[in-house]
Amino acid sequence: MKIRNIKHETGYKSHSSHNCIDVFKKPEGGKWINCPNCGLEPLVWEFDNGRKTACGCWRSKYFQHSVLAESILSVHKRTNGKQMNEYDSDALRKNWNHWCKTGEHLFIAGNGDEYKNKRRGLLRWNQ
Ligand SMILES: [Zn+2]
Repeated sequence: MKIRNIKHETGYKSHSSHNCIDVFKKPEGGKWINCPNCGLEPLVWEFDNGRKTACGCWRSKYFQHSVLAESILSVHKRTNGKQMNEYDSDALRKNWNHWCKTGEHLFIAGNGDEYKNKRRGLLRWNQ
């Protein structure tokens, strides 16, 4: 699915190629919408302490537009390890597709406001 005639604010210029460190890989599984700004499918980086995307919206190899999802370590910390079922392994894809459709970030990197935002479905994590 390609979303047309929608542009979302990213703070980065759109390019026709990815430019990111090589830990970003093509995502596996599910349908990822093409970025409404650059038209590329995102690459993803998933590690214990974070999950993020990279598309053609970037300033440099190290500064790019990213959609985020809560990491497994963040869920562990937030729930004291008691609600690991709250970890959604597909959350990054859902958050990406939601951002493509609406421009809204479901998860934002921040400074430990997980609890405050949990009820609104807006989670933050420590980077
Ligand atoms: Zn893009």
